[in-house]
Amino acid sequence: MCRIDSEPMNPPAARVRTRFAPSPTGFLHTGGARTALFNWLFARRYGGDFILRVEDTDAARNSEEGLAVILDSLRWLGLEWDEGPGRDGPHSPYYQSQRRDIYDRYLGRLQASGHVYEDDGAIRFRVPDREIAVDDLVCGRISANLREQGSRRWDAEARREIETNPDLVIRRPDGSYIFHFVNVVDDLEMGVTHVIRGEDHLSNTPKHVALFDALKAPLPVYAHVPLYLNADGSKMSKRDQGALIHEYIEAGFVPDAVNNYMALLGWSPKDDREIFTLAELVERFDLDGINRSNSKFDYEKCVWVNGEHLRRLDPAAYQAATAPYLKQAGIPADDPRVPAVLALLRDRAQTLGQIPALLAPILADTVKFDPAALAKLASRTDLDAVRDALIGKLEALPEWNAEAIKEALHEAAGALDAKMGAIMLPCRVAITGDTSGPDLAPTLEIIGRETVLQRLREFSLPVSAA
Ligand code: GLU
Repeated sequence: MCRIDSEPMNPPAARVRTRFAPSPTGFLHTGGARTALFNWLFARRYGGDFILRVEDTDAARNSEEGLAVILDSLRWLGLEWDEGPGRDGPHSPYYQSQRRDIYDRYLGRLQASGHVYEDDGAIRFRVPDREIAVDDLVCGRISANLREQGSRRWDAEARREIETNPDLVIRRPDGSYIFHFVNVVDDLEMGVTHVIRGEDHLSNTPKHVALFDALKAPLPVYAHVPLYLNADGSKMSKRDQGALIHEYIEAGFVPDAVNNYMALLGWSPKDDREIFTLAELVERFDLDGINRSNSKFDYEKCVWVNGEHLRRLDPAAYQAATAPYLKQAGIPADDPRVPAVLALLRDRAQTLGQIPALLAPILADTVKFDPAALAKLASRTDLDAVRDALIGKLEALPEWNAEAIKEALHEAAGALDAKMGAIMLPCRVAITGDTSGPDLAPTLEIIGRETVLQRLREFSLPVSAA
């Protein structure tokens, strides 16, 4: 957790260039996605460039498919990059595995200036013997003396501290470069002005600054974003609910809602507002709004944010967003009743994935009775009377619409001297099989007079569950 206060920031003087630099591991964690979002928002806010750089130097762990999941997730979120895979730019290629000649060139510069030396086949960077301070925009000033820090380490076998070489290996004996070196070279080469990344990289930053200094390059602005934790304070892993972006796609979240929630996990708009579209975040986002303390991930809150976004979609957009989830559940999205059912249900669903189950009982050809619903009616002795009253009133309606149906329900209750609830519960169970659902009268309107009357006529306890 960052502790030191930082100053509010001024708008950047130069054209902003940010980057997201994932390793293609096969999934996009919300922590990484939030980093991508903050970089994207900051670049968009100031009309700059957002670069996607693939840190794929670890051949054993990286794969094409692993990258595809990340790219798909970013596209789904709407975080399109200006330069990166599939978008050539002035610094192509954007895959570290293809930039070896650039790294060799920079190594040559460090060799020429005497900053590196060979050690048993590896190449080491001489770390300076001085305090290196980093003024982080979020975390404030941190400092470290790398020489002191790296000259001793705990030896588990010997059970004591031993002396070590503090100089940083930047190229391994097998010729591969280490993360710190390629990360710095690429940030420098690609003209990255702001490095916005997870706080887990804060302790690496003095090393990065030492490399920038040795290369006589100006430093980017650093902004390390505090990590967020599970509700119980534990570290979030990819197995925790809501950890991976593709789960949100499957569950029926809308991208703006996921962006909105991720933004709130590490940034505050300085007022109580909680719901933002991506475009609204662009208008409001700045680095001085990034929280300095860890926040806690709350899946339920994220679901709530999604429900709020669903509520704000216009009917056509809502229908379009729902269509794939209906299709997946085997419900034809072009059923003429779908728009009306969606209009009726939309405030009841917090994710698009919940919609097919809400919709199905209304569109189904046959009623599927919930045993618990039937059990609720088991002790009622008035069911025949209720059914007959309902049939009588509904049959007699000159027009079949929600308002008239509601009136008929009232009249049936009046005729039996019963409360509305006593009429509506059996009516709902007889027609939908369940005790709860959207407003009853519009539900009956959609199901249609013929079907409603037929279901009422056929309904008598005990029902043999269909
Ligand atoms: N590949 C690094 C990571 O995924 C990037 C670190 C950085 O943003 O500088 O953690």
